[in-house]
Formats: sequence, C-alpha cells, structure tokens
Amino acid sequence: MNNLKVNLHNVRSRVADTCKRADRDPDEVTILAVSKKHSAEKILALHRLGQDCFGENYVQEALAKMNQLSEMDQSLTAENTGIEWHFIGPLQSNKTREVAQNFAWVQSVDRIKLLRRLSKQRPGDLPDLNLCIQVNIDREPQKAGVLPEALPELVQAALSLPGLRLRGLMAIPKAASAEHDPSASYELMASLFSQLKREGVHLDTLSMGMSADLEAAIMHGSTMVRIGTDLLGPRPPADSTNET
Ligand SMILES: *Cc1c(COP(=O)(O)O)cnc(C)c1O
Repeated sequence: MNNLKVNLHNVRSRVADTCKRADRDPDEVTILAVSKKHSAEKILALHRLGQDCFGENYVQEALAKMNQLSEMDQSLTAENTGIEWHFIGPLQSNKTREVAQNFAWVQSVDRIKLLRRLSKQRPGDLPDLNLCIQVNIDREPQKAGVLPEALPELVQAALSLPGLRLRGLMAIPKAASAEHDPSASYELMASLFSQLKREGVHLDTLSMGMSADLEAAIMHGSTMVRIGTDLLGPRPPADSTNET
C-alpha cells in the first residue's frame, strides 16, 4: 500500500503545479479518488493517508464496499468525519433510491426524471443531495449527459426541487489524440459554467479532468478532478463484475 502514498503525493503535486501555472489557488481544486473496481481495504488505506472524497460508478458495488468499510471502522460512515461519497456513473432510474440514501453527491444527473426521483427519495434527515449535471459536451451518442442546449431547463428543474443542492457541472470530454484536440470542449464547459453563474445561479463545482488530462482541465478552470488510475492503480479487467 506504500505506493498509494507516493501516488497521492504525485497527484497532489501535479494539481499544485498546474494551479501555479494557471495562477489559481490549489485549494480551489478538489481531488476526487475514483475507486470503482478497487477494494474496500484500498479505499480505507487511501483515506487514512488523508483522501476524503471518493467516487463510485456502480451502485451495488459501492453499497457493498460502504458496508464493508463501516464494519472495519464505524466512524467512516459517521456524518462529517467519514468518507464523502460521490456517485459518478451512469444512473438508471431504478437505482435512484439507493443513491439518494447513501451518497453525498451525484455528478451524473442528465434528465428531469432522475431529478424528480432523487428529490423525492432523499431522506429528510440527511443534508440536501449535492448535484452536478453531466453535460455530453462532445455530443457523443454512447455517452451519458445532457446536450448543452438542454442544460438550462435541467438547471431550472434542479433549483426548484426540494432536497437537492445544485453545485455545478460535470463532463467527460473526448480524450486527446492525434486527430482530436479537446481544448474547445474544455472551453465550452467553462463558458457554460460561467454563463450560469452570470445569470445568478450559485455554482462552485466544475468537475472535469481524469488521470490523463487533469492538467489541461485545471488550466481551463476545473474545480474537481476525478482520479482513478493514477491514485489507485490500474483497474482489474471489466469482466470481474457483471453489473452495468
Ligand atoms: C473511471 C472514471 C474516472 C477515472 O478515470 P481514470 O482515467 O482512471 O483516472 C473519472 N471519471 C469518471 C466518470 C469515471 O468513470
């Protein structure tokens, strides 16, 4: 587990160095550890090193690990002292109740039906559920997310429903390659985010950037980078679970 310490140090340094280049305060950028396909033991080890926010993509996998973690250490599930859980995977409406009951954040909301269900199903004794609306910034048919032109309607719905606290936007821009320069996508995300703020919507979270592109995302204004591989190592091949 010693490499976790090195990984965390390296990712924090990359964030700090990039913030310096961008003339930004490193405290503006949150590191979310993406722990899909990684064990509860590994999550606990990284948490003990000072990493508090974790992102999961699959509901059943996440709930199983949350249970294991609370058996290892009860304080991990206590409010404010424990891990802050973010749901970041594609969300099906038959899974919203479990998400509303067990996560502090959902970053992958992309339709009104999900907003209505999460609002209704968020337990009244928990703080409002923090939300990011996922934007399909490159208009890729296989990717989740709302198209930019449909974003304002979803923002209005999120603001009007009880139990929800809209925090910002999330995107997974198409990866950079010899044929594709993603700069325009980052810029479009940053402009959608600042446009909403100019209109008076209180937002503080622009979630973009992963292991391979955290620098580019931070240069374009990201306030949350979602890091899996470079923190927790390579994931086991996808066939180890059948959940979608
Ligand atoms: C898996 C995943 C990540 C992390 O990806 P890495 O390349 O391993 O850092 C970030 N965001 C989302 C939505 C993911 O599904």
